[in-house]
Amino acid sequence: MDLTLADFVLFVVLGSFALVPFFAVISRTLHNRVEKRSLANRVICRLCLHAFEDTSHVRTVDCPVCGATNEKGRSRKLG
Ligand SMILES: [Zn+2]
Repeated sequence: MDLTLADFVLFVVLGSFALVPFFAVISRTLHNRVEKRSLANRVICRLCLHAFEDTSHVRTVDCPVCGATNEKGRSRKLG
């Protein structure tokens, strides 16, 4: 097998074109995972609509702004 410089360049170019969607999928997957995790901890206050994150495992959390008790996992999806 004789690999000329042109063949090598073509191979590298085609290879990088093939890698672009591969890395795009990987980065999108990682991004989605991070976003999902933060969404699971996101609480939106039912009174003042203040959005905050709570990583504790209790069922209800108090809003840091108005002090209202919010049930986790039932917050409305805003965007
Ligand atoms: Zn509040």
